[in-house]
Amino acid sequence: MIRQEAIMNPTHQSQAPWSHRLLVCFFSLLFALLVYWLLGFVVRDIATWPGPDYAALEAQMIDPSLRQEAQALREQIEESNRLVNGYRQRQAVLRDSTANSERTMNQLLELQKLNLQKNLAPTEADQRAFDESRQLFLDHQKKYQEINDQIATATERLETLERQQRQSQKRLEEQRRPVQAAYARQSTLHQLKLALGKLSVLLPLLALAVWLFVKKRGGLYAPMIYGFGLAVLVKVGMVMHEHFPRRYFKYILTVAALLLAARVLVYLLRLRAFPKPDWLLKQRREAYERFRCPVCGYPIRRGPLKFIRWSRRNLRRIQPASDPSDHTDEPYICPVCATSLFEECAACKGIRHSLLPACTHCGAPASPAQSPRPES
Ligand SMILES: [Zn+2]
Ligand SMILES: [Zn+2]
Repeated sequence: MIRQEAIMNPTHQSQAPWSHRLLVCFFSLLFALLVYWLLGFVVRDIATWPGPDYAALEAQMIDPSLRQEAQALREQIEESNRLVNGYRQRQAVLRDSTANSERTMNQLLELQKLNLQKNLAPTEADQRAFDESRQLFLDHQKKYQEINDQIATATERLETLERQQRQSQKRLEEQRRPVQAAYARQSTLHQLKLALGKLSVLLPLLALAVWLFVKKRGGLYAPMIYGFGLAVLVKVGMVMHEHFPRRYFKYILTVAALLLAARVLVYLLRLRAFPKPDWLLKQRREAYERFRCPVCGYPIRRGPLKFIRWSRRNLRRIQPASDPSDHTDEPYICPVCATSLFEECAACKGIRHSLLPACTHCGAPASPAQSPRPES
């Protein structure tokens, strides 16, 4: 009876071997993941649509002469800086040479002093060497001074240029303000365009997922529908989170969660009020199997079980009645909830389960009041 029903009703997945259920679960997840990836590629490709170009906007909106002036000033300042650096390098070299000729001159002077102490007249060569090194020293000093003057001039020019640059920057910044505003406006529009592009792909898929969920979720391919729906839903949520201001997204998310929670609650409440026929049948079947009242769970003590006390754990070890003649079948009513559990069959007059669909003796269906209706 149980197996037959499981074979006939494909929605009874809990009856399949665990390895098969695990595989179904695994491939459902894989399916959802792949759908999610595919949607991710599409969304990322849409995100590469070209946006506003700030440089082009600036070229279009700012006075070209001002830009040229700023550019020229920048070049002149660089040139001046290079010049000053060159002068400073030449000065450093000159400083070295000056120190060198000064040392030579001092040594020659010492030599002359020694010669004078020994009353030796300086030779002509000595005198010439001294004169030369003194001349060199003086020349270097003069050149050093000249370069100093040049550095002073160049630095002054540099300061003037930098002052001009500051003024030009100020004017540029004033002109840039409207450019930045225009750029921000264009960026917002671009973001909106991207969001619309992404949603125009995702929303039809979401509608398809909802339709599948409403129409086919009880069918054979329910795990695929759940996987697909979940992937699309998560992607839509991420796109909305990316593009809508957080203030609005918060409300959208909360309202969606609220609707979902309300829907689940309604489902659960309805399930409690009007149990699904096959669930009811499953619950009754299992209760009869365990010799317990399907309504209140109290043990069914009839026939050979009358004087036996059992629990869920030792139920399987119950031996069949030792004396079958002792076993007289008669109607039985639960002593706790007064539900009729075994009754006389209207067709064959044998004793049958009151709450199960068929008589064990003749197979007659149960009376309509008690039988769970098969799912339509
Ligand atoms: Zn009962
Ligand atoms: Zn019968």
